[in-house]
Amino acid sequence: MITRITLNTLRRAPLHRSLSSRASTVLSALDLHSGRELAGVYDGEWSGSGEVLQSVCPTTGEVLARNPDEFVTQATPAELRRALERSREAYNVFRDVPAPKRGEILRQIREALAEKREALGALVSLEMGKIRTEGVGEVQEFIDIADYGVGLSRMMNGRVVASERPGHSILEVPNPLGVVAVLSAFNFPVAVYGWNLALSLAAGNATIWKPAPSTPLCSIAVTKIVSTVLERNGVPGAVAGLVTGGKDVGVTVVDSKLVDMVSFTGSEAVGRQVGQAVQSRFGKVLLELSGNNAAVVMPDADLDMAVPSVFFGAVGTAGQRCTTTRRLYLHSSIVQSFLSRLETLYQSVQPGDPLDPATLLGPLHTRQAMDVYHSAVERLLQSGAEILTGGAAYRDLPKPLDGGNFVMPTIAIPQSVDVTDPIWSTETFAPVLCVGVFDELEQAIEWNNGVPQGLSSSLWTRDIRNVGKWIGPAGSDAGIVNVNVGTSGAEIGAAFGGNKPLALGRESGGDAWKQYVRWSACTLNFSNAAPLAQGVQFSNSA
Ligand code: NAD
Repeated sequence: MITRITLNTLRRAPLHRSLSSRASTVLSALDLHSGRELAGVYDGEWSGSGEVLQSVCPTTGEVLARNPDEFVTQATPAELRRALERSREAYNVFRDVPAPKRGEILRQIREALAEKREALGALVSLEMGKIRTEGVGEVQEFIDIADYGVGLSRMMNGRVVASERPGHSILEVPNPLGVVAVLSAFNFPVAVYGWNLALSLAAGNATIWKPAPSTPLCSIAVTKIVSTVLERNGVPGAVAGLVTGGKDVGVTVVDSKLVDMVSFTGSEAVGRQVGQAVQSRFGKVLLELSGNNAAVVMPDADLDMAVPSVFFGAVGTAGQRCTTTRRLYLHSSIVQSFLSRLETLYQSVQPGDPLDPATLLGPLHTRQAMDVYHSAVERLLQSGAEILTGGAAYRDLPKPLDGGNFVMPTIAIPQSVDVTDPIWSTETFAPVLCVGVFDELEQAIEWNNGVPQGLSSSLWTRDIRNVGKWIGPAGSDAGIVNVNVGTSGAEIGAAFGGNKPLALGRESGGDAWKQYVRWSACTLNFSNAAPLAQGVQFSNSA
């Protein structure tokens, strides 16, 4: 983030750079190449005259702007207050729009997104750094959950409950909740918002989005697409508002009493603060936090499936998924064969421009993420771990990749498995995989469950008895419990989320929508008497 004073200095400075053609092509396809400041606030109107945000391409290090006038402008405190108030006003209008009509608007949003699928996917790739198919796949997730929300808009049913009193009926009614604030992480700059928006909009809420400060262009591009549909339908734009910015903007949104539910996706450290802040004002909070996910490979596993899946789980998105495989527990009888095949795959992968369809390994998102990677490797070395492969940043990459944040995917074998040691118990948001060896499944399950995070887990086996143990009461305690499927790459149909303190909440499919509504238990009396529940008598005229 840079201040207005710095920006003015930049404006006066001669322009020494021009936007690369790879970046220019992606930005132009989404109308983000205007030659003017990009407003970073949308509340029915585009605005923003506060601090400015710089978007830096993780692949090349270039600033994603053609000149200093193209930086993203955040809201001033007054503009932020206005955006929150407009969300509230928009909710007051939108809650009365019939749910199937809300679904129809969502269907149009789905169509508008599908038209821009490739362009938006390329922008995700450019700004976040994930490979192109993953960028496009992320937009597809938004499209899929919009489809889901369209159906849901006709199925968000309550219940009729039998009353103990004659001539009475009890209804459980899902009403719109209010304003839902979505605070999202850098690594899914489109899909996480999509998961929330689709359910929130179908439920009749207004949503206000505070994206990660390092991916403002993705959020502006998405909001342009969504707001065009809202405006075309005569719906207040603040039904899907946007406030770009960093921590200060996030804190204001989280503390605002105008916000009924905060849906936060991000790190454990920030999630802890957000959770406490929202609960201190008795607001509703949904937390999707860190993952420290394990894959367990049994002796009977099909290694032709398991090895490439673990490779994708650990190296895909350069280790920057919440569901990335970070711990690998191998049965002692297959350690050698598994690791030699995995190592071969690791050594075959080459870093490249994520926009190039042939690339499988993109950069880390920021320079700070590289520091996290180096510290993790250093800590492993100091503890006596063997680094089987990787362990360093790539050097001597050709231009323009030499300006990017490329690190080697790393396999480490710590001296022992101690799930209380930070090596095993913390999430390193980079491609570092720690390997442990077990003899009994029960041991591997204990290690799987022994960390504070409980997001995703995966067992590789052909033995139905192992499957039963793994998914049963004494099995994996994570929210995602897979068998012969890697830890990452969830579909939208099931509810997504973790089970333990560091990963609470459910998003996307399943029953997740029930969190986005205000439940009303309504007892209706159709009779000519007014009996009390439980037969209580309270009348002096009876
Ligand atoms: P982060 O916690 O640094 O930031 C998340 C969001 O919170 C950003 O929008 C940030 O600006 C905002 N923020 C920062 N400080 C704040 C404060 N004090 N109050 C309010 N908002 C504040 O996370 P990140 O580095 O962007 O993302 C990586 C993390 O996200 C990883 O830990 C990853 O596991 C997690 N993640 C989890 C899921 C999931 O579904 N469980 C999905 C994606 C990412």
